[in-house]
Amino acid sequence: MIELHNLSKRFGDNTIFSGIDLSISQGEIVVIIGPSGTGKSTLLRCINFLEQANTGHMTIDGIHVETPVATKKEILAIRRKTGFVFQNYALFAHMTARRNIAEGLITVKGWQKQAANDKAQQILDDIGLGDKGDSYPAALSGGQQQRVGIGRAMALEAELLLFDEPTSALDPEWVGEVLNLMKMLATRNQTMLVVTHEMQFAREVADRVIFMADGEFVEQGSPEAIFANPQDPRLKKFLRQVG
Ligand code: ATP
Ligand code: MG
Repeated sequence: MIELHNLSKRFGDNTIFSGIDLSISQGEIVVIIGPSGTGKSTLLRCINFLEQANTGHMTIDGIHVETPVATKKEILAIRRKTGFVFQNYALFAHMTARRNIAEGLITVKGWQKQAANDKAQQILDDIGLGDKGDSYPAALSGGQQQRVGIGRAMALEAELLLFDEPTSALDPEWVGEVLNLMKMLATRNQTMLVVTHEMQFAREVADRVIFMADGEFVEQGSPEAIFANPQDPRLKKFLRQVG
């Protein structure tokens, strides 16, 4: 169970969002859609403490933190409960695929190197990259790199996986394999919060779709409600544009 209350974030005088409340139940797939610059990435980054929110508190799987006063220890505790998948994969170029997946187990969870490598190999097998463990990111396709990015997040067995436009940097030919891996995770009851422009994914996989605009949750509901029966004029306009 994930609960965010009254989360707000500003950069200098520029308020990106305020008063954000969000509850996600175990196994739920929540997709956030919305125009560029509306604060979607910033919100995900605040949940994982890549940014510190200015107000609010959150509980993730029993770990409770207040922002912005979270201590390093609290931040690490939250990071153990959340995995982050980046738009640009953010793999370590000087590490093999296996080591990229193992690294978080070593640094975040304190595993021994051998155990972490064994677990990483299991994950590579699971995501269809069992023979790519010794490859460096530069030798992998974009789709393979992003699957390693997802594998790295999977390794932590996090309560919540956060995805920030995981397919938008990919050539079209690689989008399908990444979405398929995300669908596989969804069928395994993995709780996921996904920012994406892939409306078809939202329609097929989301339990709930949230439309974010101007730093707030404007409208939310089932995919049917959001796509077939949008209410707010900003959502109607957005759906016409993405089309
Ligand atoms: P997109 O769909 O284009 O990815 P987004 O909804 O993810 O957009 P954010 O990246 O969260 O939007 O950005 C929201 C606003 O916050 C933007 O106006 C952006 O310029 C600003 N912003 C983001 N990061 C910073 C930062 N580190 N310092 C100052 N302003 C920032
Ligand atoms: Mg973004």
